[in-house]
Amino acid sequence: MVNANVTSTGKRDRGLLRVDGNECKGCGLCIEACPPKAIHLSDGLNHYGYRTATYNGSGCTGCGICFLACPEPGAITVLRLRRDVAVQQEEAVACASN
Ligand code: SF4
Ligand code: SF4
Repeated sequence: MVNANVTSTGKRDRGLLRVDGNECKGCGLCIEACPPKAIHLSDGLNHYGYRTATYNGSGCTGCGICFLACPEPGAITVLRLRRDVAVQQEEAVACASN
């Protein structure tokens, strides 16, 4: 099960970002594209020597813009959390187009 974070305003996050650190090339496009600025670059390096995109841990709206901005197939998965945390669905449209 994926747990949704609760923001400082008491609302649950509507989305959850997952980054495959083996596929990310650290270009930063997802970071620039994310409206709530919920992504940052890691301090560590992956096996290619890139700092990788990392979810801040909260604030994702599930919009999928980071997925659309990413040039690396399979690097980003966005989960869109629906109604309550027990009912969730992978963002199929976004995942299918990358
Ligand atoms: S889905 Fe939207 S809010 Fe969530 S990390 Fe990606 S760009 Fe940011
Ligand atoms: S856009 Fe893709 S490759 Fe670039 S930093 Fe984000 S996850 Fe990594």
